[in-house]
Amino acid sequence: MKNIYPNILKSNLKNLYRAKKNIENNNIIGLPTETVYGLAGNAYSNKSVKKIFHIKKRPSYNPLIIHFKNLKNAKKDVVINNNFLKLYSVLCPGPITFILKKKHTSKISKIASAKKKTIAIRFPKHNVAKKLLGLLKFPLAAPSANISSKLSPTSPNDVVDEFKDKIKIILDGGKSKIGLESTIIDLTNKPRILRPGSITSEKISKILNKRVTIYKKTKEIKSPGQLKIHYSPGIPVKMNRIINSNKNEALIVFGKIYKKSNKYFNLSKKGDLNEAANNLYKILRKIKNKGFKSIAVNKIPNVGIGIAINDRLRKASNK
Ligand code: AMP
Ligand code: MG
Repeated sequence: MKNIYPNILKSNLKNLYRAKKNIENNNIIGLPTETVYGLAGNAYSNKSVKKIFHIKKRPSYNPLIIHFKNLKNAKKDVVINNNFLKLYSVLCPGPITFILKKKHTSKISKIASAKKKTIAIRFPKHNVAKKLLGLLKFPLAAPSANISSKLSPTSPNDVVDEFKDKIKIILDGGKSKIGLESTIIDLTNKPRILRPGSITSEKISKILNKRVTIYKKTKEIKSPGQLKIHYSPGIPVKMNRIINSNKNEALIVFGKIYKKSNKYFNLSKKGDLNEAANNLYKILRKIKNKGFKSIAVNKIPNVGIGIAINDRLRKASNK
């Protein structure tokens, strides 16, 4: 399929080098990862990182995830520990972010880490992200490519939907395979999950051979992904509904349904939670763009990746 937007570029070697050059000049680009699309810039450069915060309208207290190509490079900036190594060896590269202590000698921009003593690090699995990191001499700060508190993008067109032509290069990596942001785990102390994702607490508990739970206390905000309002389509979202209550309301359904309606949007006809996670942002965005005034959502089973789906829906539904 031909892209109609001139800033969406095929991820061939020529364009990867173009992206590299842009990033080396402190510009930011749209980058595909297996979770969602990111806005990527040089994590060692205050200038690049400032641009990311500015364009996303991201509050300065909300730190960015730093993407590395390998463990050797990450060790320059964070203090690793046994729990990290166990998880890394099974799950990386992949959709999981680790909070670790920052090294005193770290070159990561203090603006990127919001002046914290910790850094969130990740090793993306997407081929394009890996290839680009392979060409660079520094890690990439890459938060999701959306305006702060809004829906994350899962395709290059979504990035254009968010930022129009403000981002000059968006590397096309197709549709995001997972479609939900990474699981975030804090490993600076007793392991705890700050944001649920496709890598579940059960899987993590098994690898670490101890029970790791999702941290729910909201008094002290450890990760602004924990802020009450987030992942919002910009119209009210109501959870656990069976029907839509008026003509301007769309209904997101899950599993087999017998009634057909152009106001119904199915997350997964098969009732598959992974497919539902993958469709969630795409469907929320579609409903918003069709001009509906509110969204009702069926009950989503709260197991496996369903926990992450419900987490995002809960935050999208907060007023
Ligand atoms: P995004 O990249 O937009 O999906 O957001 C990244 C998430 O990681 C945000 O919720 C951040 O607050 C969180 N995060 C980044 N660095 C840290 C850190 N040092 N401690 C806790 N959470 C972090
Ligand atoms: Mg985000």
